Amino acid sequence: MKVFENVHLVDGTMANVYLVLHGGKVAIIDAGLPGEHVKVLNYLKELGFAPEDVDLIIATHAHHDHIGSLRVLKEITGAKVAAHREEAPYIQGEKPVKLSSEPVEVEIPLEDGDEIAGLKVVHSPGHSPGSIVLYSEELGAIFTGDLVHEENGRLYEIPHRYSLDPMKNREAIRKILELEFRHVLPSHGRPILNEGKERWRELVEELEL
Ligand SMILES: [Zn+2]
Repeated sequence: MKVFENVHLVDGTMANVYLVLHGGKVAIIDAGLPGEHVKVLNYLKELGFAPEDVDLIIATHAHHDHIGSLRVLKEITGAKVAAHREEAPYIQGEKPVKLSSEPVEVEIPLEDGDEIAGLKVVHSPGHSPGSIVLYSEELGAIFTGDLVHEENGRLYEIPHRYSLDPMKNREAIRKILELEFRHVLPSHGRPILNEGKERWRELVEELEL
């Protein structure tokens, strides 16, 4: 599904996979469950891109539903893998994670404030140590990973049992409000267009942050 001219959401994956078109290349945000790479590759083909047009795969964090197809997608596309440096050991299989995926080398370790494929990296730990939000200032859009999720047009925290440090996650939710944005592109649920900031503010108020 087309979200913006240069942002697409691959249909039908468990955790959302976004494609960001930048300078004739494609950056993929998150890689889906094992087997879901087929959906990603089919979608790329529909857009007229070949696998080798993908230059980057950015992982928001190391959970199974986000990196299950990372290794195979990397092998097929030849893209470089980027993730926060605190998340890299989990993706590389050096530190354990529940429901682990095949280890993949992170060639581009990211830090808070870095820019990649036109997106700014915002370190948002809590759900996992190196969870990130990716911010497009140009679009006024944030790719949230599992910082929040969407249901029926509203935003919620990820259930605490899935997060390493839910209170830290809340702090990260509050901090995001400082950014200028209108669109929220979560990993679970549908994108909230135009009214993303309002919905985010409601969540912050509800959590009394
Ligand atoms: Zn997660």
